[in-house]
Amino acid sequence: MSNLPSLEVMSETVAETARGASRATRREQVYLDYHASTPCDPRVVEAMLPLFIETFANPSSSIHAQGRKAAETVEKARAHVGQAIGAAAGELVFTSGATESNNLAIQGAVRCEPAGRRKVLATAIEHKCVLESCRWLGNHGYVFEVIPVGEDGLVDLAALVDLVDDRTALVSVQAANNEIGTIQPIAEVAQVVHRAGALLHSDAAQALGRIPIDVGPWGVDLLSLSAHKCYGPKGVGALYVRGGARSAPLEPLVFGGGQEAGLRSGTLNVPGIVGFGRACQIACEEVVVESVRIGRLRNWFERLVLDSVSRVQRNGAISRRLAGNSSLRFEGVEAEALIANLPEIAVSTGSACTSGALEPSHVLTAIGLSRQEAYSTLRIGLGRFTMESELEYTATRIAEAVSRIRGLA
Ligand SMILES: *Cc1c(COP(=O)(O)O)cnc(C)c1O
Repeated sequence: MSNLPSLEVMSETVAETARGASRATRREQVYLDYHASTPCDPRVVEAMLPLFIETFANPSSSIHAQGRKAAETVEKARAHVGQAIGAAAGELVFTSGATESNNLAIQGAVRCEPAGRRKVLATAIEHKCVLESCRWLGNHGYVFEVIPVGEDGLVDLAALVDLVDDRTALVSVQAANNEIGTIQPIAEVAQVVHRAGALLHSDAAQALGRIPIDVGPWGVDLLSLSAHKCYGPKGVGALYVRGGARSAPLEPLVFGGGQEAGLRSGTLNVPGIVGFGRACQIACEEVVVESVRIGRLRNWFERLVLDSVSRVQRNGAISRRLAGNSSLRFEGVEAEALIANLPEIAVSTGSACTSGALEPSHVLTAIGLSRQEAYSTLRIGLGRFTMESELEYTATRIAEAVSRIRGLA
């Protein structure tokens, strides 16, 4: 190992680069798209470094000490992820992210259910990976039904009571929405779902690190997590399985060496998993204080915009939403045009460009907005590194751009 750079030196350099990069980003560009992804926390990067050149052995190679050391490192991270959601380490399966966790939960559970339960339910505002997974089942001999939400994005509990029955295998209700930030009453949903004998899955990709999660009182059977939405690296996530992965009523999607209790074969992404564990530790310690700070910043930012721009509306549940979420619609302004006028600011629209055709967001239409209202929606996401000065600048630039665009119309 003598020709490898010394870890101490490299760690310093990389950590400094990470800090420098985030400073530079903040000076020249403003990042307000924290729902799409978050930067790695420098503490996460530092925790990951030794796994690339020092503890790099395959954690499945238990025949030698180096492999066992890698496996121990993975198990420590698993415990940290568990602590962040009130779960035991043995209840977590590492995956490549929330997309895979959602697919494993939905496909895996439904394929395992007794023949009499061939129905899946999901809310209208789930992430595409949940809806597409359910839709596939709907096209392959199962029944898929959509649970409506109200204007505030909250799940329609009365509709859920009507839809869930003794033929339902699984219900999927996200913890928090990635466009309008609505936080769902998961514990209430769990009661309804369990009364019918079905399983409850929750996509908590937006919830981890943003609101406290506790799988006990929440009553979920399956819960999906993603590292890159909570200041960890991309390409790693986990699925929580109540009662433990080993006894899970789940069929795997990926077959092979039998890693992760046979539920997810393939060599573990050790650096990613360790980074995810560190991100969860930080989230656990800081979520309450951080969400209060970010919520205050968001409210102050919205005040600035609402006071300086006319005909602006907020989408979703104003009180039951993520602290860093601001979904604003500007009457008579296309969000696409607005964003084109804000090249140095990273924000998002309420639309997804699918194969060239611009479709309005299914989330915004599900809460009752017209296509036009959906097209005029801007999604702003604040996070850990957002500063007041950036928000002040952004509010000013939005106000200028809106009046410029309205002036042209
Ligand atoms: C980002 C996101 C996903 C997908 O997560 P990946 O880890 O990027 O696959 C799923 N659901 C929600 C709500 C998300 O915000």
